[in-house]
Amino acid sequence: MSVVLQGARANAPGDAPAAGLAARKADFPILARSVRGRRLVYLDNAATTQKPEAVIEAEARYYRESNANIHRGVHWLSQHSTDLYEESRERVRALLNAARSEEIVFTRGTTEAINLVAYSWARTNLKAGDEILITTMEHHSNIVPWQLVCAQTGAVLRVAPIGDEGALDLDAFDALLGPRTRLVAVAHVSNALGTVNPVARLVQRAHAVGAVVLVDGAQAVAHTAVDVQAIGCDFYAFSGHKLYGPTGIGALYGRHELLQAMPPWQGGGDMIRTVSFEASTWADAPQRFEAGTPNIAGVVALGAAIDYLRSVGIDRIAAHEHELLAYGTRALEAIPGLRLIGTAAGKAGILSFTIDGIHPHDLGTILDTEGVAIRAGHHCTMPLMKRFGIPGTARASLALYNDESDVDALAAAIRRAQDLFEGK
Ligand code: PLP
Repeated sequence: MSVVLQGARANAPGDAPAAGLAARKADFPILARSVRGRRLVYLDNAATTQKPEAVIEAEARYYRESNANIHRGVHWLSQHSTDLYEESRERVRALLNAARSEEIVFTRGTTEAINLVAYSWARTNLKAGDEILITTMEHHSNIVPWQLVCAQTGAVLRVAPIGDEGALDLDAFDALLGPRTRLVAVAHVSNALGTVNPVARLVQRAHAVGAVVLVDGAQAVAHTAVDVQAIGCDFYAFSGHKLYGPTGIGALYGRHELLQAMPPWQGGGDMIRTVSFEASTWADAPQRFEAGTPNIAGVVALGAAIDYLRSVGIDRIAAHEHELLAYGTRALEAIPGLRLIGTAAGKAGILSFTIDGIHPHDLGTILDTEGVAIRAGHHCTMPLMKRFGIPGTARASLALYNDESDVDALAAAIRRAQDLFEGK
């Protein structure tokens, strides 16, 4: 993915200049291991990315040197741990170019961030007849929470269609917007197709009818510079584990006025101002939405992942993945019987495909015997698969450490799988 993305901003000063990323494989210890006696070719990055030594070490170092509970302690270690936690919040703010760090709420990941908005904002603000607009290409995480909201409030879910190449039908999207539209929830990048949505444009149209906009950035943040102010969205959700960080940590960006007006969605320690048996009052955002002891080590390691990303240079990563996507597209298109699903003009590093006569699961299993890790199935996008009339796809997804040798290994393994099926 590269410059085609809306809401992109230039690298921050200090980011490295453009150059090859070949040496970066060595930053990821797991990539040196073999699987089933073969070199590991890891192409399942949309599911989760591998972790560089800097991130692994940051989490271990936190437990070795800094572990204490945050916010409530008077002792030095607690204050130190709190500082590390809040410094990571600042790193997330900078990553998304949010206006202030109070706009960043730590969550378990994208799914929890979307559910936070569904439980807190949507259940308070929506009533029967209001409309939530999503798109056909959404991940289940950006469908099911809204269905739950609709069941509770009587709001109605509307779905903007996509064309055969996997691009959002912008005219249809515009036509579905109206005075009843209260919320638009849309992926920045589709995990199953790689389609990059023109989110700034969508936000503009949605705001024109007074709707609030949530962008699901799970597949965007590791692949392009994201600027929530340029996009203009009200909420932006992402997961740390898709960004070379640990599992179990992510964040929600929310515009400050919105977060401040939203009620808590989970109660407990750290999210209150005062508690009595008669009534309790809430802390300001973001603490209001971070009840209980959070994943402190995960937050600290997420900060290290962001540092790592910036040290490589997000624009370099975007350019590298863009080139590799073009290379991979050519390599796969040359394979007879292979059909690429998702060929929109603006695309991120995702190669989703079907092969005549081979079920995606069988293909994934055969590729695994060769050390090639891809994903096969519906990718948590069952309605999207239905749209294409297929049960699922095989999906190879790229990261900064992938190179042409990985794509070559993929293509060669697919051809061998075809030979196997043809009894050659
Ligand atoms: N949204 C998209 C587009 C995704 O690709 C994913 C995960 O694959 C999610 C949401 C959910 O992310 P998580 O499972 O980290 O909460």
